[in-house]
Amino acid sequence: MDSCIFCKIVKGEIPSSVIYEDDNVKVILDIAPSAKGHAILLVKHHVADIFELDAELAGKIFAVVPKVAAAIKAELGCDGMNILQNNGVEAGQTVFHLHIHFIPRWKDDAVNIKWTPGNYADGEAAALAAAIKSRLD
Ligand code: 5GP
Ligand code: ZN
Repeated sequence: MDSCIFCKIVKGEIPSSVIYEDDNVKVILDIAPSAKGHAILLVKHHVADIFELDAELAGKIFAVVPKVAAAIKAELGCDGMNILQNNGVEAGQTVFHLHIHFIPRWKDDAVNIKWTPGNYADGEAAALAAAIKSRLD
């Protein structure tokens, strides 16, 4: 897509710090990292978000994730890592070209990915699970 900044990065029209590339993905360092080593995996074929991703391409993309995560962890020596993928404005997506974040984590770092735990009324979880499941059958 002509106006898409990540398509331009994929094509090399905008420079980036590349850490991995194959036929389907380009993995680069995030320009505004949560911490050193914060990387983003860009799908080469423009899709806006997870809802536009087909299963076959998803398999190829996610196969890359463990080895990139392991390489970042080995190099940075981080204690942990969040693998994060935002879909939609409300979910924090700012670039509407599918990407996966690799966020290295250290004890007492400044990254904050938290929510207030909720709960279900009696039977509510089972009913909701069944309703969602019926859409997958
Ligand atoms: P989102 O909020 O959409 O999940 O994440 C978009 C990410 O892309 C942000 O972390 C942002 O720093 C990163 N980003 C935006 N523009 C560029 C760019 O031109 N180059 C690189 N390397 N990262 C970018
Ligand atoms: Zn794009």
